[in-house]
Amino acid sequence: MRTVTIHPAAITHNLHEVKRRAPQSKVLAMVKANAYGHGVSAVLPALAEADGIGVAILSEALEARSLGWDKTIGLIEGVFSEDDWHTAIKHDIGCVIHHQPQLDWALASAPPADSATRTVWLKYNTGMNRLGFDDTALISAATALHAAGYQLILTTHFANADVKAHPLNAKQIQRFTDMLAYLQTHISADIQGSLCNSAAIVSQPEHHFDWVRPGIMLYGGSPITEASAAELSLRPAMTFASQVIAIHTVKAGDAIGYSSLWTASVDTRVALISAGYGDGYPRVIDSEADVVIHGQTKAHCCPIRGRVAMDMMVIDIEAAGDDIRLGDTVTLWGDAPHVDTVASYAHTISYELLCRLSPRATRQIH
Ligand SMILES: *Cc1c(COP(=O)(O)O)cnc(C)c1O
Repeated sequence: MRTVTIHPAAITHNLHEVKRRAPQSKVLAMVKANAYGHGVSAVLPALAEADGIGVAILSEALEARSLGWDKTIGLIEGVFSEDDWHTAIKHDIGCVIHHQPQLDWALASAPPADSATRTVWLKYNTGMNRLGFDDTALISAATALHAAGYQLILTTHFANADVKAHPLNAKQIQRFTDMLAYLQTHISADIQGSLCNSAAIVSQPEHHFDWVRPGIMLYGGSPITEASAAELSLRPAMTFASQVIAIHTVKAGDAIGYSSLWTASVDTRVALISAGYGDGYPRVIDSEADVVIHGQTKAHCCPIRGRVAMDMMVIDIEAAGDDIRLGDTVTLWGDAPHVDTVASYAHTISYELLCRLSPRATRQIH
């Protein structure tokens, strides 16, 4: 049976690691994209000690409200229409405002004084050049919103937070710090700041400001290239597993699977695993990555051979002797191999593997 097991205790542990690193800041735990594939309903109880959650689209915010999340929700791209602005007000959702149309909607219809939508995350373009106001427009937006009774959190996002030494980081920090000081001096001393995602929480400890916005580190992925998740004391929040469904020997000179990508040089015992790209395991991986098979007496790290197919893959178990039997459990990612390792074999990042899992596996919480 294929299973995706979510570990709430690991998420809570990782949240504590965020708080340990950013003790002065509030935490907006990012649960966009169905909590990086972990399932919003599975993770919310584990995030009870977060000050708020961040989502990308309104339907994600409404789902969290319907699950009973009654603290801050930050909608990181804001609303996409005036109707959605009214929906946000109705459900007390805090919105990013990043361009003039959103500003117009907010100025045309201010929420009641006690509404959480009165707090606006004002997005400043400091160098990512995706969303956000440039200097002059930012200052006039902040002035107008403040005059209309809004509380403001100045926010921006790093383009290269995962590479600590990247020169744009210092520039973005400088622009952000200068703008926040300007707004606090000229508009209101109460204006707050939010700058850091997971990578910056780890590598920019001097610049945490009022709200940090961790995502991947809550789920146990390393946000930086220089250190592994284990080195950062982060625990994987997901185990993706399946089982051995057949065992046989491939004769020397015979090839395995689609496109006959891998040919056995000697007689080789292989195990068929019921998992493939139809479940979200990357097809691009061939004959490099390992899975861990939990055999009769111990766990074995064994390599994939040939093409990953939609429903199955072939694993070389020659080195494991007869310790591996039909039905044995196989970890595709979890404690080992770590999802960061699998992602590197697939030339991508853990984020993508986690959110691309298909619904086919049975979901459980443990
Ligand atoms: C997704 C996101 C985050 C979290 O990023 P991680 O790298 O997963 O920590 C933080 N801020 C914004 C604006 C985001 O979109």
